[in-house]
Amino acid sequence: MKIILLGAPGSGKGTQSQKIIKKFNFDIIATGDIFRKEISNKTKIGLEAKALIKNGQLIPDAITNELVKNTLLKRSLDNKNSGILLDGYPRTISQAQTLDKTLAENSSQIDAVIYLKANEKTVIERIVNRRICSECGSVYNMLHSLPAKPGRCDNCNGLLIYRSDDTLPSIKKRLISYYKNTEPLVEYYETRHKLYTIDANQLAEVGFVEIQKIITQISAKKDK
Ligand SMILES: [Zn+2]
Repeated sequence: MKIILLGAPGSGKGTQSQKIIKKFNFDIIATGDIFRKEISNKTKIGLEAKALIKNGQLIPDAITNELVKNTLLKRSLDNKNSGILLDGYPRTISQAQTLDKTLAENSSQIDAVIYLKANEKTVIERIVNRRICSECGSVYNMLHSLPAKPGRCDNCNGLLIYRSDDTLPSIKKRLISYYKNTEPLVEYYETRHKLYTIDANQLAEVGFVEIQKIITQISAKKDK
């Protein structure tokens, strides 16, 4: 089963993907993490991406597509039975078209797109209050999901930090780019009858109950 998690920055994608992985034993492909890894390993793609990001430029679709394709094919071969969750990809219509083509060539397809729909006020408030574990990447929110020990991760006791791009001007810039480039994917997948919309203004726990129902329903259909 292949599922896409779609939503604005701050809509709760990180939190929901952690919950999905834990509950359903999904394998995750998060483009942000893949790029961070390529950059820290100083690979050819990593160095290219680093230079682009440093100049405030976006990474071209061709590079992202290639990277996701390689990861996706490798993971599907390694791990035929478990589900794959895509987080942070596709980010544009062109990426979605490439993904559909890659999957079709491998007799596969996207089974569902879970759209975390949140209003702008909610996402800004969430990002401003977001802290991330510097060790394991777990996400915390200083309003709704405080760690048991202040400033420390519940899972691994790692130090909780701000992400360096979680400042208000940077958030606004990312949101403008999201509404322009990524939000059109909602219609793209709706017309293909793949879209499931979750109200992401509510608490993550409430949204996750709905997500569980969707995944259970789809996997039951696939088993038939
Ligand atoms: Zn941690």
